[in-house]
Amino acid sequence: MIESSLTTPQPIQDDLVVEKSLRPASLDEFVGQLEVVENLAVFIESARRRQSSLDHVILFGPPGLGKTTLAFIIAKELNVNIKLSSGPVLDRPADLAGILTNLADRDVFFVDEIHRMNNSVGEYLYSAMEDFRIDIMLDKGPNSRTIQLNLNPFTLVGATTRMGNLTSPLRDRFGVILRLDFYDAADLQKILERSASLMEIPITAEAAARIAGRARGTPRIANRILRRARDFAEVKGEGALDLPTAQTALDRLGIDDMGLDEMDRRILRSLVTNFQGGPVGVESLAVALHETARTIEEVYEPYLIKEGFIQRTQRGRVALEKTYDYLGVKPAAATRSQQQLF
Ligand code: ADP
Repeated sequence: MIESSLTTPQPIQDDLVVEKSLRPASLDEFVGQLEVVENLAVFIESARRRQSSLDHVILFGPPGLGKTTLAFIIAKELNVNIKLSSGPVLDRPADLAGILTNLADRDVFFVDEIHRMNNSVGEYLYSAMEDFRIDIMLDKGPNSRTIQLNLNPFTLVGATTRMGNLTSPLRDRFGVILRLDFYDAADLQKILERSASLMEIPITAEAAARIAGRARGTPRIANRILRRARDFAEVKGEGALDLPTAQTALDRLGIDDMGLDEMDRRILRSLVTNFQGGPVGVESLAVALHETARTIEEVYEPYLIKEGFIQRTQRGRVALEKTYDYLGVKPAAATRSQQQLF
């Protein structure tokens, strides 16, 4: 196995360099997510005709599905500039005020992981979004006074993996709510073929289809596997990335026929053997796996849930039949071996 972080949907170091060049630059180039693309096209066109700023947009869905890409496309299609920030970085109202007061008319302000913004910053943002105005407090104590600054109309594009963690005042201020879903294999194959051509990697349709089927419905992962598979093809020296080379790369990366990697397998095994298949709270699972609960919830779990391996219930996570089949154990046997442990 090479790197277990390979199937992590969040960006890793070398993604940051390559992804820029692979990002589709217009809605026409953006593959899949038809409903989202069609809705956005209408809203963008109508803002253009009205010559006003686009309503604030929230994009939500698991990491690596194209939220940042869409924010760039929105700005490009509106022919305006984009400023980038993220919830955890914006931790003081002054940082926010600095950015907002520098936005030009109709600019896009992209806030990644907006659910992680702290409340004091959030409150400034509400009034900025609603009235394009912010109150700035000057001095502290008895001499304090506030001044009100008018802002240029702008469009906030927020991205989140956790819609449920947004406060309702914030959620209510978004006029456009768009949900991104995992891509099907046909769309991922198109994305891979497009990326391969941009990176000048000759790839066969079978190889692209094989990688597409193992990429957890996520373009970021598909592109990352492509880069690793390209390395294998180069070492082999035969030029084209064909099916056997793609399969070798997947095997060496620890990605199995279901598209699961080592971390997924650890989650499933732990759920079944340490917790008798659940229900178990995500915190307990995280402790057993030496991982953060947030990573399990936001990165791994959505795909495992979508593929029917686990279910999220009020009482915690539960292993479904598919998990037992996958691990080759029976629910009762798992429980027995658990009892033997204690
Ligand atoms: P997110 O912000 O949701 O984590 P990104 O927008 O950064 O995801 O997308 C990750 C990478 O996946 C981008 O660099 C881009 O190359 C690729 N990508 C995402 N969506 C698409 C798409 N619909 N078509 C082509 N490439 C895509």
